[in-house]
Amino acid sequence: MVPFGSGERIGFVVALTAETKLRKVKAILGVLGSHPSVTKKQMDLAVWMAEYYATPLGIILRAMLPAFLSRVPKERVQLLDGPATGLTPRQQRIVKFLDGTNGYSPDILRRRLGIGAIRSDLRALVNDGVVEIKAEPPDTPPVKTVRIVKINRWFEDLAELERLLGRAKRQLEAYQILASSGGKLELSHLVKQSGFSRGVVTGLEKKGVVQIEDMEVNRDPFSGIPMSDKMKHVPTEDQATAIKTILALHEEGKGASALLHGVTGSGKTLVYVEVIKKILEEGKGAIVLVPEISLTPQTVSRFRARFGDQVAVLHSGLSEGERFDAWRQLKTGERRVAVGARSVVFAPVKNLGVIVVDEEHDATYKQNEAPRYQARDVATVRAIKEGAICILGSATPSLESWHNREKGKFHYIGLPDRVGGGSLPPVHTVDLRKELQNNKSSIKSGDDASMVLSPVLKEAMGVRIARREQTLLLLNRRGYSSFVQCRSCGGVENCTKCSISLTYHRHRGQMVCHHCGQSKKALARCSSCSSSDLSFKGMGTEQVERIVNETFPGVRVARMDVDTTSGKWSHQEILGRVGRGEVDILLGTQMISKGLDFPRVTLVGVINADVGMHLPDFRSSERTFQLLSQVAGRAGRGSLGGEVFIQTFLPEHYVLQAALKHDYMGFARKEMSQRQNPAYPPFVRLVNVVINSPDNECAADNIEMATRFLDVAKKRMSIGGEVGVVGPAPCPIEKIHDRWRWHFLVRSASVSALNQLIGPLTKEFKTKGRDVRLIVDRDPSSLL
Ligand code: ADP
Ligand code: ZN
Ligand code: ZN
Repeated sequence: MVPFGSGERIGFVVALTAETKLRKVKAILGVLGSHPSVTKKQMDLAVWMAEYYATPLGIILRAMLPAFLSRVPKERVQLLDGPATGLTPRQQRIVKFLDGTNGYSPDILRRRLGIGAIRSDLRALVNDGVVEIKAEPPDTPPVKTVRIVKINRWFEDLAELERLLGRAKRQLEAYQILASSGGKLELSHLVKQSGFSRGVVTGLEKKGVVQIEDMEVNRDPFSGIPMSDKMKHVPTEDQATAIKTILALHEEGKGASALLHGVTGSGKTLVYVEVIKKILEEGKGAIVLVPEISLTPQTVSRFRARFGDQVAVLHSGLSEGERFDAWRQLKTGERRVAVGARSVVFAPVKNLGVIVVDEEHDATYKQNEAPRYQARDVATVRAIKEGAICILGSATPSLESWHNREKGKFHYIGLPDRVGGGSLPPVHTVDLRKELQNNKSSIKSGDDASMVLSPVLKEAMGVRIARREQTLLLLNRRGYSSFVQCRSCGGVENCTKCSISLTYHRHRGQMVCHHCGQSKKALARCSSCSSSDLSFKGMGTEQVERIVNETFPGVRVARMDVDTTSGKWSHQEILGRVGRGEVDILLGTQMISKGLDFPRVTLVGVINADVGMHLPDFRSSERTFQLLSQVAGRAGRGSLGGEVFIQTFLPEHYVLQAALKHDYMGFARKEMSQRQNPAYPPFVRLVNVVINSPDNECAADNIEMATRFLDVAKKRMSIGGEVGVVGPAPCPIEKIHDRWRWHFLVRSASVSALNQLIGPLTKEFKTKGRDVRLIVDRDPSSLL
């Protein structure tokens, strides 16, 4: 802890030096922990990230360590033994007060002595070596407990108990309630719901019949989940080859990355598990990254089944204290497998042997706030630095990884077939243009249900319902309709803070902005011309749910999107119902496309594949292809087989053509050629430089200045030829949350040229005006 401005800040000691050119050096106020928090190798990684992502080292380190460690510490001011001369009267009072005590916190000193600005006095005393300020990490947040009443002595013969209890009838009743509840109940339950007084319980306790104790409440849904027996399989020939190849790489001990390209259902998890097992046998550790949404008990149980208590699951439902415990257990080597989402890439696993990045193409591996890192890339860099193996698994690898494979940077391992001889499900497209032709008359009359469920899809769903099989329906747009347009004046309701239209949510009766979350009551009339002739355009999941319910009355439908999964475990609750066969049709956004392995799902329908295809973002085709392939891969995973219907206005588009044939390579070839001219990743690297401000003109001026700054820097470093700048221009979404946004793109095939340029941009470039923010986003995942 160091003095900084008028207060104190927690800093990280990253190096020690014996001398300095600085003239005025301030003393450290206190040290928060004497053990190094990061290893040398983690520090190397942090330094690399700080340069690559042009982000201050402190922000990187903070992301690497549990939040808990950078909390405001408890401080204790203690008197040292040394001489204390030349003190001001106030300082003398402080010393006198501390004398003979074990020390006090600065706060107590301030109050007891009535010295307002006590900090400056304390600092002076620290500098003179009179006192020291000890800083201790705050207490770990306590584990939550409840009071439990537990039967201590069971009575077979109630008459015997009656004799013991005498006339205390209520005590006997309480015993009976406890006994019928398995011998254990929460105290509050007995008192509040069953109406026993506290005295009744105490009476039973005194007679030794029950005891009262604190029981830890388990908030971790992953502890105690049944272990999956799915990982007991004998590897197939392809799996065995993959395992052998990866272990051979591991033997070399140099650190390397392997792309495990396996179609959906090819059994990639078993490969991860077998490799991890071997690596644990050598006394090393492992990290497994999965997309946040796939961090389900189903996934976790596959690792727990094999590695039991060695596994530490890091997830957003943990309290700060639980997170800290997991972190410590990994650091000491007590647990050796860390499983979690994006940030688990920093887990302090001891003697790291392997990092698995499952579904490596997943967009959520990129963090969209500082530090803006891409966990997949960090994983490969960390693996090299630690001499570990990084396995990147996917059915639809990102083009970046595909390119790295073609350049020979990544080893390639293919699992071309589903395990057990199962085949990928046949995919059919439904041409929505034809549906539109066939339904002109009914659509005019406002009934466009047939555009949502085309006759073929409807029929296929009916067959599944009759056979008691399950259907997944994908529509990657939530809400009821993505915009509401007035038929008389053509006006569209927009967010007042963002430059996008409001989405109508029928259940809530509200219009909601999907960027800033602002909402208002939905009106029955146009807000500019008061006409009631409104049309609901851009259908969302709520609308599909309504239509499905109307088409198949009595069928059990579950909807899974951001709106139905706001509770911490609600999406797992929905999936649990699907797994137990309590749902006939699961409808949702991209959330339903990932990782689900339900053998009774025999039909997948995509309501409209074109959602997202036309976004002004170079990755929109890639995203759509991945989404279609992933969701198609959910069908026919069991012996029942399956099929897929994709509804689209663009059946000839190469994305749909490739999805029809499960042809990743065909897609990659076509998409790669699209990215060459103009050059986009993976052929060049991008940095998106965004400036935002409440004042549009100010943001525009600053982006101009930043562009000029970069131009000058380019000339100075003579790297002009290698680096191109596109823009500046307003961002595709010009305004979010009342802040106007301008950007330009920096592109270059040279990593080092970009490093050289963006470093100064974040460190030296000064914005002008009030409340102007500069964001430098390296390898952006979205340009919107
Ligand atoms: P992927 O992640 O590649 O889509 P999974 O790892 O989920 O595939 O495996 C798909 C299914 O195949 C799972 O139900 C899994 O239990 C099963 N499976 C995996 N390997 C084998 C094997 N060698 N023999 C039999 N079944 C297997
Ligand atoms: Zn109007
Ligand atoms: Zn908004």
